[in-house]
Amino acid sequence: MPIVAQSTETTDWVSRFADEVIEESERRAPGTVTSVADAPVVVVASGLSPSGPIHLGNLREVMTPHLVADEIRRRGYQVRHLISWDDYDRYRKVPAGVAGVDESWAEHIGKPLTSVPAPKGSPHPNWAEHFKAAMIASLAELGVEFDGISQTEQYTSGAYREQILHAMRHRGDIDAILAQYRTKKAPAKKQQQKQVDEAELEAEEGSGAASEDDGSSGSAGYFPYKPYCGNCEKDLTTVTAYDDDSTELTYACTACGFSETVRLAEFNRGKLVWKVDWPMRWAYEGVVFEPSGVDHSSPGSSFQVGGQIVGIFGGKQPIGPMYAFVGISGMAKMSSSRGGVPTPADALQIMEPQLLRWLYARRRPNQSFKIAFDQEIQRLYDEWDKLAAKVADGSALPGDVAAYTRAIGTAAGELPRTARPLPYRTLASVADITAGHQDQALRILSELDPANPLGSLDEARPRYDKAEAWINTHVPADQRTIVRDEPDTELLKSLDEPSQQSVRLLLDGLAEHWSLDGLTHLVYGVPKVQAGFSADATPKELPPEIKTAQRSFFALLYHLLVGRDTGPRLPTLLLAVGQDRVRTLLGE
Ligand SMILES: [Zn+2]
Repeated sequence: MPIVAQSTETTDWVSRFADEVIEESERRAPGTVTSVADAPVVVVASGLSPSGPIHLGNLREVMTPHLVADEIRRRGYQVRHLISWDDYDRYRKVPAGVAGVDESWAEHIGKPLTSVPAPKGSPHPNWAEHFKAAMIASLAELGVEFDGISQTEQYTSGAYREQILHAMRHRGDIDAILAQYRTKKAPAKKQQQKQVDEAELEAEEGSGAASEDDGSSGSAGYFPYKPYCGNCEKDLTTVTAYDDDSTELTYACTACGFSETVRLAEFNRGKLVWKVDWPMRWAYEGVVFEPSGVDHSSPGSSFQVGGQIVGIFGGKQPIGPMYAFVGISGMAKMSSSRGGVPTPADALQIMEPQLLRWLYARRRPNQSFKIAFDQEIQRLYDEWDKLAAKVADGSALPGDVAAYTRAIGTAAGELPRTARPLPYRTLASVADITAGHQDQALRILSELDPANPLGSLDEARPRYDKAEAWINTHVPADQRTIVRDEPDTELLKSLDEPSQQSVRLLLDGLAEHWSLDGLTHLVYGVPKVQAGFSADATPKELPPEIKTAQRSFFALLYHLLVGRDTGPRLPTLLLAVGQDRVRTLLGE
């Protein structure tokens, strides 16, 4: 069911960019646009380099235009969101920690990413396809609609032939533009990245690699085009001669010594250098919006230089906001098969796509934020559920409603959601304690609210699966909850009279209070009753010492149940342990 487009209001950053992009797109159209129906197709773009696992940090490259494109679609316009797969870029280095890859892959450095073998055991035909596939699957789960364009296909099919010949004819102009920046030192990129995060997401490996050189100035002059060697396939080539009329190009390979002369008008095995390639594609596709990371947006960067070069191709620079890096919390400690760098698939294992979309939608692109893989995810989910409740009862602010609406679906409809979205922290505790026993998990979750039990665990899915995955993969072993097998008789024997009484009060109330709300009331009530107050007394009616008494009572229960000072919230823990076992462990 399509979401009603409640989006013409300028309520958030997405709406404001959509306004700007539509206006710019219409300004570029020949003739006057009088209605949505005769408006040009709006083109927005992202670029991704499948040079290795595509990091979660690079997802912003896609989510920023996606959200803007989606808003434009909701307004009834046609939009193309291009994702340029920069799979014709050179293979730069063997990334660390990728399963099925060893040092022997180093021999492929310099070849196009699509000419490098996929990791061992991969069902995909080459390196680029292997890493693209994982990203494509994540984007589908996130509801991101896009047109993928393989730059290998574009270049090797000759799609850019005219543009390449044009760039070669105008190499002097291009060289003059690039020359303005060659003497200027690039800004201290590393320092800008430092502010991002402890986990140091290396987004610099993103699209187009800003570090790539901008073409070679050999003895034959400057050329913005680089062939891949006809013998060894590497790009360690130098153009030694070029004739504009015949388009005859001679190159030599410094890797293998091969040299040949080709006719560029018929030759499809090479590419424009990055700083020329990017603006060429803006012009070729008519891109109106393409954000970029801070490393592409600084003075002398490819975005800025591209703005000067794009005119050579008869195009215009897109609206291109700079986006700040996205950090990760809690992943640094984790050992990962991918060298500790999380991908969107890793995030989607522990959170629903709605939550991940929300993180991007609610922050302006220039604000950095962190994606939580640690305990913080529980608080984030609390916040998300609170927002959902506010939206439902009409008390949410317009900007928050906008972010929520963008998170739960797209112009094409709502994303599949969990039928019974029980609190994530409760699901995580239950998964923690039941350790894969689904029947137990279902029993406990049904006891949370006995008046409205769960028919099957599926009603709590996929959120339950995400919480379970989080517990299993991101909570260190020493923080996992292990319920005692046998009562701690030593501790039970050593209890003083008031402690014994508190345990007794709890046991006496268990049967009557066996639900999440009931047990919450009970565990907080016991110390009140012991101190001579009503279990219903509110904090204002109680002396501050009650808090201390509650804390020591809780610590005692944790010790008796799980042998530690702390653990999951007690009511959840009690439900998870089950009434009979609680009675045994508490010495009844
Ligand atoms: Zn060669």
